Amino acid sequence: MKEKILAEFHSRFGENPVLYASAGRINLIGEHTDYNGGFVFPGAIDKVIMAAIAPNETDKVRVFSIDINEEAEFGLNEEDAPKQSWARYVFGVCREILKRGGIVKGFDAVFAGNVPLGAGLSSSAALESCFAFALNDLFNDNTIDKFELARIGQSTEHNYCGVNCGIMDQFASVMGQKGKLMRLDCRSMEFEYFPFDPEDYELVLVDSRVKHELADSPYNKRRESCERVAKRLGLETLRDATMQMLNSIRTDITAEDYFRAKFVIEEKDRVLAVCDALNAGDYETVGQKMYETHKGLSEDYEVSCEELDFLNDIAKECGVTGSRIMGGGFGGCTINLVKKDLAPEFVETVKTKFKEKYGHEPKVYPVVISDGAHKVEETVEEVN
Ligand code: ADP
Ligand code: MG
Repeated sequence: MKEKILAEFHSRFGENPVLYASAGRINLIGEHTDYNGGFVFPGAIDKVIMAAIAPNETDKVRVFSIDINEEAEFGLNEEDAPKQSWARYVFGVCREILKRGGIVKGFDAVFAGNVPLGAGLSSSAALESCFAFALNDLFNDNTIDKFELARIGQSTEHNYCGVNCGIMDQFASVMGQKGKLMRLDCRSMEFEYFPFDPEDYELVLVDSRVKHELADSPYNKRRESCERVAKRLGLETLRDATMQMLNSIRTDITAEDYFRAKFVIEEKDRVLAVCDALNAGDYETVGQKMYETHKGLSEDYEVSCEELDFLNDIAKECGVTGSRIMGGGFGGCTINLVKKDLAPEFVETVKTKFKEKYGHEPKVYPVVISDGAHKVEETVEEVN
């Protein structure tokens, strides 16, 4: 990818660019917890967006996307916003840095990526984080704090791409480190690294390639249930709720609200249990918690679907260590913690059985927990 990007840059723009990259992400556990003030547990992966960038001494930005095979040119003022949706991510990052008093001058860039688009691995966060990191390095002497770079990506989605996302994806993409997952406290924004470098297991994502559009905005309904129960308990969010507290009001709330809150409370505890297990190198417990999360998402939170439950069942039948829905639900991926020697057989089985039942093969992506945003040359030196 590096050679392809540099060759394209040289033929298109000529100058000597600097290479930057940032990663897609997975979330091992901690689903539907962010808006309840709980924890998420993401890590950056070995699928990246990489960009070659050089200042061009003008007030214009010229960016070429290799994967889309299109060039965009725009100025740095608000009214200069490009029409191409992919270029709005780059424009948004520039604008958000400028809004914060940072410096962005004209530059030329060529980029490409191997984060699958729209598969739940957050290619958009990889794109934003790559450019945010690069522009911080090129024009701001790295004076913008790394967490702020993640916020710049998040604001880009909100203000330029019409996606009202949380901070997790950009956080993971910017802050990720090889062999480490991060527990992010969505209330305080404090975070801590935990080792994730299993010798005998690998992570395999299975993308069902289905997305069920539901008419009655199920996400908002889940949120409202959580808010209602928190309020009833006199809490701001379910973060501080316990099962004992929930059980004490069980007869005062609807069964639906009870089970939604139960999932959120149990999920928070599962994240903490996974942290302990990882510190002890106990991947079997990690896997067990993943299955528990799936069950909770399916039965209590009711955000699964037939296809995802089927993928989970196959994982179980194959003896996969852990498996669960990753992301909001109603389609998308499962994340699977698989013993290395079992992985080829699992992949084969899941593809065959899923196709038999649903008529198309799921996409399978093995992933390794890797570094987040970085300058590419530096990493090469570090490795040597
Ligand atoms: P995801 O879940 O992968 O983040 P999104 O819909 O949020 O999916 O973001 C995908 C969008 O990000 C694409 O439509 C495109 O505009 C941009 N994008 C991601 N990867 C690339 C790439 N390799 N080249 C160009 N644009 C990309
Ligand atoms: Mg996205």
